[in-house]
Amino acid sequence: MTKFYQLTTDDVLDKLLVDSNVGLTNEQVQENRKLYGTNELNEKKDTPAWKIFLKGFQEPIVIVLLGAILLSLLSSFYAFNFQNNVKHGKEALYEAIAILILVIINASIVFFQEMSTKKSLDALKEMDDRTTVVLRNEEWQTIPTKDIVVGDLIKVKMGDFVEADVRWIKSSELQVIESHLTGEADAISKDTAAISKDTQLADRSNMGYSGSTVSNGQGVGIVVGIGDNTELGNIASMLQNTDKKASPLQTTIKKLTSSLMKVSAGIVLLTIIVGIIKAGELSVASISSVLSTSISLAVASIPDAMPIVLSIVLTIGATKTALNNGLVKSLNSVETLGSTSYISSDKTGTLTQNQMTVTNFYDGTNSYDVKGRGYTPEGDIISDSSSVVNLDSAFLIGAVLVNEASVKEEDGVFKPFGNPTEIALNVLGQKAGVTKESLLLKNKIIRTLPFTSDRKMMSVVVETDKGYRLYTKGAPDVLLQNSQQLLLDGKLVESSRSQNFEKIIDDYAKQALRTIAVAYRDITKHQAQTSSVEELEQNLTTVGVAGIIDPPRPEVKASVKTLNEAKIEVVMITGDHAQTARAIAYDLGIVKDKNARVIEGSEIEEMTDDQLFNVVIGTNIYARVTPEHKQRIIRQLQKHKQIVAMTGDGVNDAPALKAADIGIAMGITGTEVTKDSADLILLDDKFTTIEKSVRNGRMIYANIKNFMRHELTTNVAEVSSLLFGLFLTQTIGQVPGETATLSALMVLWVNMISDSIPSFALGYDVAESDIMKEKPRDVNESILANNTWSRVLIRGTVMGMMVYLAFIWAARMGATSNQAQTVAFLTLVFGQLWHVFDARSSKTIFRRNPFENKHLLAAVLFAGVSSILVTTIPFFNTVMGTAQLPIIVYLMVIFIPALPTFVLSGIKEIFKIKIW
Ligand code: ATP
Repeated sequence: MTKFYQLTTDDVLDKLLVDSNVGLTNEQVQENRKLYGTNELNEKKDTPAWKIFLKGFQEPIVIVLLGAILLSLLSSFYAFNFQNNVKHGKEALYEAIAILILVIINASIVFFQEMSTKKSLDALKEMDDRTTVVLRNEEWQTIPTKDIVVGDLIKVKMGDFVEADVRWIKSSELQVIESHLTGEADAISKDTAAISKDTQLADRSNMGYSGSTVSNGQGVGIVVGIGDNTELGNIASMLQNTDKKASPLQTTIKKLTSSLMKVSAGIVLLTIIVGIIKAGELSVASISSVLSTSISLAVASIPDAMPIVLSIVLTIGATKTALNNGLVKSLNSVETLGSTSYISSDKTGTLTQNQMTVTNFYDGTNSYDVKGRGYTPEGDIISDSSSVVNLDSAFLIGAVLVNEASVKEEDGVFKPFGNPTEIALNVLGQKAGVTKESLLLKNKIIRTLPFTSDRKMMSVVVETDKGYRLYTKGAPDVLLQNSQQLLLDGKLVESSRSQNFEKIIDDYAKQALRTIAVAYRDITKHQAQTSSVEELEQNLTTVGVAGIIDPPRPEVKASVKTLNEAKIEVVMITGDHAQTARAIAYDLGIVKDKNARVIEGSEIEEMTDDQLFNVVIGTNIYARVTPEHKQRIIRQLQKHKQIVAMTGDGVNDAPALKAADIGIAMGITGTEVTKDSADLILLDDKFTTIEKSVRNGRMIYANIKNFMRHELTTNVAEVSSLLFGLFLTQTIGQVPGETATLSALMVLWVNMISDSIPSFALGYDVAESDIMKEKPRDVNESILANNTWSRVLIRGTVMGMMVYLAFIWAARMGATSNQAQTVAFLTLVFGQLWHVFDARSSKTIFRRNPFENKHLLAAVLFAGVSSILVTTIPFFNTVMGTAQLPIIVYLMVIFIPALPTFVLSGIKEIFKIKIW
């Protein structure tokens, strides 16, 4: 069978029944979709729900609990059959059943959390959907990539992915990288000519393959394969889909949980030994006497909610960031964002509005002021001499011809299409009365050499009745360097006499104007058709320069100020002129000195890595840089242990984005390739979104820290109250000496209800008001650094001691065992509920408004009320060993447990104590 690459472009179009001027019609799209399906790879099947449910049983806490169930059953069996102790047997049996119920509840919570996390992540993934430009019903339109059908005509340009297998039907300097299929890392040139013989994939120069990157030029292709029926689809099964990567915090916490499990095993062993020593013999009875306490201890010492809370908090963070227009690609990045210490940003479009207007130009003879802002092509052009604008000036012709932008009027509003710099020049042409259409009557464009930020130039080759000419526009310094001649006062002169030009460029740049020059070169037909870009863009004649205003975004100044307060350095890395960069950086507050140092790309080129290392700290502006320089700057900053976030928009920025700790791509103007390599996508292209995402990242980390503080403190309180009981108790009143301070089910209740639910709510907390006033945290710092351990141990032990004292007090007052345990239980519950308000502050309870977090208030209310209810409802009395208490005692156990929190926080405030 003849393959698509063996057919001519016309034959392929005929075969697929497509008119190259119309594209597919709606009916054809529907038909072809029915015939060939959608453009999606058959992704890895979703994990079935039951598997996610069973995952809940793999949590360490559940394993401990299953062990506890087994021990309780054994204990019950022993009591019934060997001790004839029906009461104890029943209690142990209830304990086993209740623990089982809690295990199922716990697995269900894990299940629902996993499902909602998955839903949020899927929603985020959908926001990241790629798009493609296709011709349908005579109109080029942008559609989601998955909607491409066979027969569609797709248009690609530098920085795009090829999203289906195509046969190229138009190409202009088109080069693609198809290393994912061929292993060949270099870009390969593509054309449209049919290939007669059988050819290997790598040599099919008229075909494009799904997943390739367009590294240069542009092209139009007709889709011949989609989804699984592409070359990529053939090998997709070999390519593993990247899974949700665990964040460093998740890994740390997993380790912490497993260490705590070991501690828990140690404590259980210890209680059993104590039991044996107390009984004076090694027997089932001696072990059984402490079994209840050891089960309670095992349950108490594991911060079981930790992994779930962590994934909830990170997902909330990712969703919140997305609501602020920052799309985070992995949970990992949510965390890293919070520790960012350097943000290096492109200038154009991120710090500035990317709405460009030419305000001045010089055509080699006269200087002009251009009136009117925006895209409406109205505005006077006023010369510094009395002369009128020369419509035949090579400057205006070049500015309009080397230009792919257009401005169309729709309902009285002029809408721009294309690159903002080119839009500005297009509008200038219209103001002067020079349009591309009129120029094309005499100039036939035969080649376009697209702009790249490495060259900082763009050219077209035109054929006129006088011969062939290259028009180039680009960065003035680059054009002057590549020029042999200049147009000065209407005459061609040696390029060494460029002082006049340089002065004008400098003047424009000092006014924060972006500068762009135009040049030309007459060439032969042979050169026009065959010479490479490098060969063509030299020996030029520079004919003029324009100054373009691109106003700073108004909101950026405040963001820079906030970031500086947060000790985050803002750096501008731009391809633009040094003076322009400095003027804008000064305007935005990125530098405080009008003459701040600017390092240019050419200087970086000369520097060794060590020299660059010595200057990167303290330099806030880099100008005329290429994407490779960005990578070098990142590396040196990282050597200084800085966490670098960097923006990029062009295809060549992808490696720099990968090298940065947080690669940031532009959602609107960015190329698909940069979006793919980024960790954060700015859906609105705004710098302020970076600031908000960093704030979110910091808040998330703070919330996790608050949660850890609370969770660990309560665990210490539970364990210490039980250990006090184990070591100190003698029989008091009606309470026998071996009675544990809390029953195992009380501990379970505390761990899974009254402590966990408020802990979850900490994940929804807002940021402390001074979160952007502190310096970035050290990424290597443990989450328990800065006296967190001592704070946890001291507060936990004090709380545990209070619980134990409450137990003793109740026993002394003549309470039964169940009543004494209930007093201890409620003292613990309310101690924790007061403490949670302290834990949510990095300082003390007095520094935060307790009503800020409505989720937390609701959770605390629920935990408090339900904990009291389980002491009053008979069913729970039987199962949990709780007992009803007098009203006055309820009031005491609600309010007295507030004391440690308020007293310790008060002392901390007054004496500025850090250790708790
Ligand atoms: P940033 O890196 O901050 O986004 P930038 O957009 O100015 O800055 P580049 O796109 O690399 O950086 O542009 C560098 C220079 O190249 C510009 O200052 C301008 O002189 C020139 N230039 C920009 N766009 C074009 C274009 N479409 N055609 C020709 N020259 C251009």
